[in-house]
Amino acid sequence: MPLFTLLSVYIFVIGLVFGSFLNVLIARLPKGVSIAFPPSSCPECGHRIRFYHNIPVIGYLVLKGMCRDCGGKISVKYPLVELLTGVMFLLVFLKFGLSWYTLKYCVFVFLLLGAGLTDVFTAADEDFECGIIPDTYTLGGTLVGLLFSFVTYPDILTALIGAAAGFLSLWIPAWLYKKLRRQEGMGGGDIKLMMMIGAFLGYIPIYFIVFGSAVIGSAVGIPLVILKKNKNYMIPFGAFIAVAAIVYIFFEPYLISLLLRESA
Ligand SMILES: [Zn+2]
Repeated sequence: MPLFTLLSVYIFVIGLVFGSFLNVLIARLPKGVSIAFPPSSCPECGHRIRFYHNIPVIGYLVLKGMCRDCGGKISVKYPLVELLTGVMFLLVFLKFGLSWYTLKYCVFVFLLLGAGLTDVFTAADEDFECGIIPDTYTLGGTLVGLLFSFVTYPDILTALIGAAAGFLSLWIPAWLYKKLRRQEGMGGGDIKLMMMIGAFLGYIPIYFIVFGSAVIGSAVGIPLVILKKNKNYMIPFGAFIAVAAIVYIFFEPYLISLLLRESA
């Protein structure tokens, strides 16, 4: 097999494994329980999951989506999160090749998927009042993003300004909203997520990502609020920010040339 194909398969499999780890983080971080103990077990009967059934996607297919011990249904979201992570890692590798950027953007996409999916799943879960974005992704991610500035663009100064710009881009509207309406509109998790994105990408992309997430948020969020017939339903805005940021890293040159043409 040619080396490039071999590496592509390898990256895809690494993505599946990280997707499997992401399932654990998504399930456990919002509840504040340990991510290491206890080992994965069936939520229905509590039996430990055998290590060979923990193999990403294949384990689910072998079990036909059912627990081996009690026959309880295993959610299809587990193999889907694994596949999504695998595909994203592969796409990053196909775009950025063997470089620091592939490592950086795989980490970045992993954090965005974790933050966005946790926001969606907790917003839909009645155990939680609204969507949650754990600090592990956003504050931890801000630090990791700044560290990558030593081996990739943007440089540390641009990354620091980016983090500040990301933070302020949502903190200011949130503060204004609170002043005017006397209630919380935007969650702190969204603000910290934007800060993390600025640390990874610098300040210029913030413009696109705020705009892009607002467009996606309106297109998806407004029908969702109407369907739910609940004005207080908190749409998981963090998920739209994550989608906009992922779109940005794949289409950056097109978006920048669009901006330059508009302003020329
Ligand atoms: Zn079971």
